Amino acid sequence: MSSRVRAAGVILCVTGIVHVAGAQSPSNPYARNPKQPVDETYTQKMREYTTAPHFTSPLVDYLPASRTVPTPMTVLGDVAGAPGKLPYSHEVYDYIRRVEKTSPRVKVFSIGRTEEGREMIAVAVSSEINLAKLDENRARLAKLADPRTIGMKDEQADSLVDASVPIYYITGTIHSPETGSPTALMELLYRLAVDESPYIQKIRNRVITLITPIVEVDGRDRQVDIYRWHLANPGRHWPSTLYWGKYVAHDNNRDAMALTLNLTRNVLNTYLGWKAQVLHDLHESVPYLYDNTVGDGPYNAWLDPILTDEWQMIGWHNVSEMTKFGMPGVFTHGTFDTWTPGYLMFIAATHNGISRLYETFGNAGADTLERRLSPSETERTWYRQNPPLPIARWSQRNNNNYQQTGLLVSLNHFADNKNLFLKNFYLKSKRSILKPKTEGPAAYVFPADDPRLGPQADLLRILQLQGCEISRATSAFTVTIPARRPADRRSTTDAPANGGGPTTETQDKDAQSKEAEKGKHSEPETRTFPAGSYVVRMDQPYSRIADMLLDYQYWAPDDPQRNPYDDTGWTFGELFNVKVVRVPDSRVLDTPMEPVKGAVAAVSSVTNGGVFLINHNADPSLATLRYRFRDASFDVAEEAFEAAGQKFSRGSFIVRGVSSSELQAAANELGLKITGVADVPSVKTHPARAARVAVMHTWLNTQDEGWWRLALDQLRIPFTYISTQDAAKEADLVSKYEVILFPPVGRGSGQAIVSGMPMYGNPIPWKTTELTPNIGKIDDTDDIRPGLGWDGMAHLQKFVRDGGVLITVDDTANFAVQFGLTPGVAITPAQRLKITGAVLRSKLIDDASPLAYGYDENLSIYSSDGPIFTLSNIVGTRSGRAQPTDERRRATGRGTADDPDQAQGRPTADPLPEDPRVEPWQAAPVRDDQLRNGVNVIPPAQRPRVVFRYGDAKDLLVSGLLDAGSEIAQRPMVVDVPVEKGHVVLFSNNPIWRGETQGSYFLVLNAILNHDSLNTGRKLDPK
Ligand SMILES: [Zn+2]
Repeated sequence: MSSRVRAAGVILCVTGIVHVAGAQSPSNPYARNPKQPVDETYTQKMREYTTAPHFTSPLVDYLPASRTVPTPMTVLGDVAGAPGKLPYSHEVYDYIRRVEKTSPRVKVFSIGRTEEGREMIAVAVSSEINLAKLDENRARLAKLADPRTIGMKDEQADSLVDASVPIYYITGTIHSPETGSPTALMELLYRLAVDESPYIQKIRNRVITLITPIVEVDGRDRQVDIYRWHLANPGRHWPSTLYWGKYVAHDNNRDAMALTLNLTRNVLNTYLGWKAQVLHDLHESVPYLYDNTVGDGPYNAWLDPILTDEWQMIGWHNVSEMTKFGMPGVFTHGTFDTWTPGYLMFIAATHNGISRLYETFGNAGADTLERRLSPSETERTWYRQNPPLPIARWSQRNNNNYQQTGLLVSLNHFADNKNLFLKNFYLKSKRSILKPKTEGPAAYVFPADDPRLGPQADLLRILQLQGCEISRATSAFTVTIPARRPADRRSTTDAPANGGGPTTETQDKDAQSKEAEKGKHSEPETRTFPAGSYVVRMDQPYSRIADMLLDYQYWAPDDPQRNPYDDTGWTFGELFNVKVVRVPDSRVLDTPMEPVKGAVAAVSSVTNGGVFLINHNADPSLATLRYRFRDASFDVAEEAFEAAGQKFSRGSFIVRGVSSSELQAAANELGLKITGVADVPSVKTHPARAARVAVMHTWLNTQDEGWWRLALDQLRIPFTYISTQDAAKEADLVSKYEVILFPPVGRGSGQAIVSGMPMYGNPIPWKTTELTPNIGKIDDTDDIRPGLGWDGMAHLQKFVRDGGVLITVDDTANFAVQFGLTPGVAITPAQRLKITGAVLRSKLIDDASPLAYGYDENLSIYSSDGPIFTLSNIVGTRSGRAQPTDERRRATGRGTADDPDQAQGRPTADPLPEDPRVEPWQAAPVRDDQLRNGVNVIPPAQRPRVVFRYGDAKDLLVSGLLDAGSEIAQRPMVVDVPVEKGHVVLFSNNPIWRGETQGSYFLVLNAILNHDSLNTGRKLDPK
C-alpha cells in the first residue's frame, strides 16, 4: 500500500495491517462517504466478531446508516455473520422483502419452487433509474444475446453496449453445509442499496446486481435445523447433513447438463431470462478465498477462448485488489480443472456469459473455531504468494467479510469495464452463431428412423430447456460425413490406436463398428436422412451447449492434470442410447426445415384391436406404462415375432384388459406406438409384473441413491424407501417387496454398510421435532449410527433365497460379493485401471436374458472405476480367466523352449489335454475331476449368468478418461446371480446417474418387470 494512501487517513493495526478509513480520494478509492453516518452499533459488532483486523477490508469494515432501510439486524437480532446466527430461508426472504419495501433500488422476483415447494427468489439491486428501465435494458441485452436480431452488425452492437447496463448474477449456498452466503448476501444487498460511497455508487449506477441468496432452499432449512439442534445440545454429536435437496446432496452442483433438479432449472431460466453476463456461485471449503474459475487445465474444449481470457482477467484482478487490502489467503489458479460443464456456474459459460465460483472458508455453521490448516493449504506457491495462516480463530463473520469484499471488488471491476464485458458478451454470442463457418460442426442430426424416438425426444427436450432451437427437416436430405483423420499421436492408454475415442464422427453405432473394422483409413461417407429428422443447427446463439453435450470427450491418460475433479465423459447421444450424427457439412443448413414450436414429443399412435402390442425398444416410458395400468395383463414375449406386418423384438409387451381410449391417452402422453391386433400372437410369454419395489439407503450417505429415486419418481414407478436399519428389523422382506434396489452408497466399504457409524457417544437422531421441523421427512431414525448389521445381512440373504431380487451397483455390488451373497463371483483388484466418470462400450452376451430386453449388441454405459468381476463355477476359487498362453512356461530340461521335456528311464507321457478356451467374462467349465466329491461346485442352475460384458480393449472407450482399460475390458458388467429362488443382480457400471444415462435405465427396469422370470432363456452348462 502506498504512502499516499496512508496519508489519506489510516488506522495502523497491531498486526501491522493497514486499514483505510476516512474520506475517499483519488489515492483511496475504497473509502466510505464521510457525509454519510455510520451505523455505530452494527459496525462495532462486526468488528467484534472479526477475529483479526486483516480478516476484513475497508469496503466492509463499517456499515452505513440509513433512516429508511433496515439492516440485517432487524431480522437476525445481530449482525450478518454473528456467532450462533444462521437464518432460515423465510427469515432471509423476510429481510430482503423489507429492504424492497423501503428502498426504490431493490426489486424481488420469485423464480420458482423447489421439489419440496419452497420458494426461490432473485433480488435485483441497482440505481432507481436502472430498475425503472429494466424492460428496455433487457430488450437491448436480448439483442446483444442474439446478434441475428441486429443483422450481426458490430456498429449497432456498439451503440447497444453503450446504452446497456450489464447483469451480474450471484447465487448463494447451493451446498447446504456451506452456510455463510445468505447472511453475506443480505448485508451486501443492504450496502448496494444504501451506501453512498463513490465505490458503491459506481456499482449501483453501472451494474444490475441480481442475487439468489439461497439456491438449495430445502437443504438450507435442514441445515439450520441441524445447527439449532447443535446449539440446543451442547457437547453432543450432531448429524451431518444427510439430505440436502429432496433427491441429491453435493451433486446438486453437477446438474447443469441434464437439468433434472428444480434449482438448476430455476437458476437457468433466471440467467437466460435476464440475459445476464455473469453467474457467480458461492461455495465454501478452501481457505480463505479461492477464485477457482481460472483453475487449471484441461479447460472445457468447447468454450470460446474469449471467456477463458475473461476468467484470467477477472480472477487475477480480484486477487490483486484483495492483496492490497492485506487480506491473506486470497488466490486463483489452484488445481481445479474446468472440464466438466455440469457445475451450476457453467450455465453462464455454456450460454456466452462468464462463469465464476468462489470457495471461501466456512465453519459449517456459525460457531467461531480455531482452524488448523495442512501444509498443502498454507504453502506459498507462485499463484498463492500470500497463503492462509497455519492456525487462526475463524468466524462466520470473517467468511462474510471475504465473500462481500470479493464480490464488491468484482462488481466494481465490472462497473469499470462494463462496455468491454458487454461487447465480449455480444462477440461470444456472435461467434457461437458463426460456429458452422469457423470451427464447426454445422449441425447435429437426430435421424427420424431412430428406433428409440421416445428417448430421442427426451434428449431434444433437454436441449430445448438449455435454450437451444430445434428444427425439423421437411424433406429427406443428404450430407457428406468427412473421412476420419487419425490423431497426430497416440495416447498412452494400452488400447490400440483407435481405442481413444469414436472411430468416426457419427454416433451411429452400426456405422461405427464397420468403421472400426476398416481401421483408421475411412472414406468420406454420404448419408441421407429421412424427412422428419431433427436438426440442431449450430448457427444459433446457444450452439455451444449443444456441441458440448452431443460431442465426444477425450481426456488423455498422460494429461498433466492427474486428478480430474469430476466426470470426464458424458456424450449424451451415447448415454441416452439415441442416434446423433455430427455433421460438419454446411449444406445441412440449406435443407428445408422448420423450427419446432413447443416441446419436442415423440409421435404416438394406437391402432384398434382387442390385444395391443408394444415393441420393446428400452424406452423407459414402457415401465411407466406398465405401472400406470397395474391391474391390466401385460405379457412379455420371450422371442422376437412378427404381427400386423411389424417386427417385435424380444421382451415386447402383449397387453390385454385395457380400453383403447385409456391406452390412447397414455400413448399420447408417453410418446408410444401401440399396435392393436385381433388375437394374441403365438409366441412364448411370461407375465411382466409391476413389482413392489424398495429402494434401500444407508445412513452413511444418500448422495448417489438420490439420482435413483429421482429417476423412479420421474417414471412414476412407486417404491418404498427403506434404510439398512429397516432391513435389519424386518425378518420377512419378501412378504413386502419383490425387488430391493440398493444403489451405490458412494463412500464407505462393505464393512461400513454392515457396521454403520461408531457407537461412541450419544445417539444421533434424524427426526422431525419442534426444534428440527425440516428434517426427518424423507426418512427418519432415532439414531443414524447403526448400519445393516448381521441381522440385516441375514434378512437380505433370506430375501433372495425366498425369491426376492436384490439389485446392487458398483460399491454395493462389491458389498454383495464381499459378504458372500453371490457364490461364484469374485472381484479382482484394479492395478493401474483408471476410469474417471467415463462413457464405455459394453457388449450384449446373453440376449435371451430378460435383463437384455430392448437392447442391441452395443450399449454405451457410464462407469467410474466399477468393480472388475471374475466368475467361477466353484465356490471360493477364481477359475475364470485362463492363463494367457504366452505366460505358460516350461520347466528347465531337455530340448528347445517349445519342446516337451522328457524324464529319463520312462516312455513319453501324454500332455494334459488342452483346456477349452475361456473368455474373460466366462467361468471355466467344470472338469470331471472337480465333480468328484464336488461340494464346492455350484449347480448349473445356480451359476452366475453374464448378460453384458465390457467391450474389447480396442473400442472400450467412448468418451472421457480410460487408462489401462485392458484390466476391465471383456470382463462381466451385468451379472445375474441366482440364489435359490431369488436373484442378486450385480452392476459394475452405474445405470442411473445424474439424469444423464436414460439409455441404461432399462437394465434396471427389466429386472423389476421380469423379477420372477429372470431365468428365462437360460442355457445350463452340461455339468
Ligand atoms: Zn460447494
